[in-house]
Amino acid sequence: MAEKKVLEVRRDVAPHWVGDGFPVRSFFTYQEAPETLSPFLMLDYAGPTEFSPSQQRRGVDVHPHKGFETVTIVYQGELEHRDSGGNQGAIGPGDVQWMTAGSGVVHEEYHSEAFTRRGGVLEIVQLWVNLPAAAKKEPPRYQEILGRDVPVARLEDEAGTARIIAGEYRGVKGPARTVTPVDLWDLRLAAGRSTRLNSPEGHAAILLVRKGAVTINGSTSARGVALVVCDRAGDGLDVACDEDATVLFLGGALIDEPVVGHGPFVMNTSEEIRQAIVDYRSGRMGAL
Ligand code: MN
Repeated sequence: MAEKKVLEVRRDVAPHWVGDGFPVRSFFTYQEAPETLSPFLMLDYAGPTEFSPSQQRRGVDVHPHKGFETVTIVYQGELEHRDSGGNQGAIGPGDVQWMTAGSGVVHEEYHSEAFTRRGGVLEIVQLWVNLPAAAKKEPPRYQEILGRDVPVARLEDEAGTARIIAGEYRGVKGPARTVTPVDLWDLRLAAGRSTRLNSPEGHAAILLVRKGAVTINGSTSARGVALVVCDRAGDGLDVACDEDATVLFLGGALIDEPVVGHGPFVMNTSEEIRQAIVDYRSGRMGAL
């Protein structure tokens, strides 16, 4: 029972806008060394932001992705998505959209019409999950995971609950189909309680503390909003909750391949990036 050591706690990340709909803080990107973060490439958190009622839909216009998956978790507000594979849908609080770009896809991401008209608070996470080389050549696919289909597990030691989006916790399996092993758990922790999260030896272990306060392994405190990055070595971590907390746990196996990224494309070599740009410009990733 070796603890995964905390390597770093990140806070005070500067916000920037993605399109005119998403005021995000990028807690990490693929520009960093993948050894710690793999299979995860990017985590954008759009904290609770009030949008006034509007007639003009806000969001991100048509753009491509290739070589990885975009996972969008909605906590507040409502989004609409449309892609070149013919998929479209709206997701609201508790819902998750898991888009596998694979060999290339073109999509748009907007606030829903209804949310735009009535206004309100938006809060979302967008996570990018890498794909192994072979899966970067597979056709794109799309999973819309509704909140009602996400099972809730009780944490050990009466510490709270976990919505299991992907992976498995104490026999409760998440609905997301993943290419490599990924755990994505949405935790609600109760003040004064503590629990151990098991995470296989060699897997990444990262926590986004959205609200409240926790102490990891008895020594490192993190108060929302903060990102806690742990070492891959070890088989779990202890989480004590100091103040009622909501925490997104990311775990996953290392994809031990070179990461070469350029904007919305993440491949293994520069030549593959050049080819992706050509493919996109020539319309080979489809259109809306
Ligand atoms: Mn996108």
